Amino acid sequence: MPLTYVCRYCQQVLGKIEQDIPEYQLGFHFLTPEERRDIILGETDRITVMVICEVCQQALEANPELALYQTLIQ
Ligand SMILES: [Zn+2]
Repeated sequence: MPLTYVCRYCQQVLGKIEQDIPEYQLGFHFLTPEERRDIILGETDRITVMVICEVCQQALEANPELALYQTLIQ
């Protein structure tokens, strides 16, 4: 199933994988069901994986309270 990586903070599309990749290669099976629900937005024909882009990562490191704020407004 094709994958799209999207930044969970700025919604920027960070990457796409159009090949069919078995889940075990992606490491998703290491996630708990709760983590899966949080990170992976499954759709019928593609999976969206919520990640953090470099820009937001740096912003969060500079302002850790931003993460809390972002989580609350989601
Ligand atoms: Zn971002």
